[in-house]
Amino acid sequence: MRDKRSIIIKSPRLQRIRNNLRDVFFQAARSERKRLYNEWRGFLVDPEGKRRSINNFSPEELSRFRQLQERENEITDMINRSILTCAACGKGHRDMVYNKAYDAWYCTECYGLERVTAQRRAKARARNPNKAKSCEEKVIESHSKTFL
Ligand SMILES: [Zn+2]
Repeated sequence: MRDKRSIIIKSPRLQRIRNNLRDVFFQAARSERKRLYNEWRGFLVDPEGKRRSINNFSPEELSRFRQLQERENEITDMINRSILTCAACGKGHRDMVYNKAYDAWYCTECYGLERVTAQRRAKARARNPNKAKSCEEKVIESHSKTFL
């Protein structure tokens, strides 16, 4: 996929179809995530309803427990990076822009905001190119550059 790619739909009818499809995929992913969550949470309670410590799990139980948590995290990450929701604001029924550097989709509103901020930051840097940067400033600047 290209570095930046916008998916903009102008027709309200097509937007409605897009939104409904996103809802279907989002609900399916959320339902699978919830199933995994309930399964690993089940390991924390014994048949009498008492709480179990992870220290008392058998090696097989611990392995399955971690496997379920890992899969749940993968699905959460997949949802957060997908076109189903904006990586910044979490809204889903919007036109989206893909940012390859983050392998994530942003709504056009958040992307525009990030872009304006990045342009301001780049101008400020150009005015003062030799100013020392803190570690935090370097990370922010590197994030910002992906929106230019
Ligand atoms: Zn957004």
